[in-house]
Amino acid sequence: MAGIVTGGCRCTKVRYQCTAAPVAVTLCYCRDCQSWSGGAFGHYVIMPSSAATIVGDVTGYDVQAESARTIRREYCCECGSPLFARTPHLLAITVARFDDPAPYHPTMAIWIDSAQPWAMIPDHIPRFARNPPLSSGAS
Ligand SMILES: [Zn+2]
Ligand SMILES: [Zn+2]
Repeated sequence: MAGIVTGGCRCTKVRYQCTAAPVAVTLCYCRDCQSWSGGAFGHYVIMPSSAATIVGDVTGYDVQAESARTIRREYCCECGSPLFARTPHLLAITVARFDDPAPYHPTMAIWIDSAQPWAMIPDHIPRFARNPPLSSGAS
């Protein structure tokens, strides 16, 4: 996954490119990621916050995550595609918004304490009840 990878929103008004290798690929089962994704979990490629160059207008809002940290969630002004969740040092990019999401196998499942009873959690990756020790999750 080295080199430059690209992605963007559904309507293509927002585009981005990343030059760093992911810190992690998380499935986050916290309630806020459920709410934002509209499904059982958020699926993110976690990068250092400086790794992405973004072109186009995003808008967003701050939420207090279950971890009590403030997360900024950003989406396209035009089509509303969920794009980014930011903490001060990390940028979480929604996996489906990459032009090629195929390489981004999840590396950890986090906040499984908040998972719905019917949620599917892969059993071949590490699971964390809340945030992982490296604190790289979107929550
Ligand atoms: Zn858009
Ligand atoms: Zn989450």
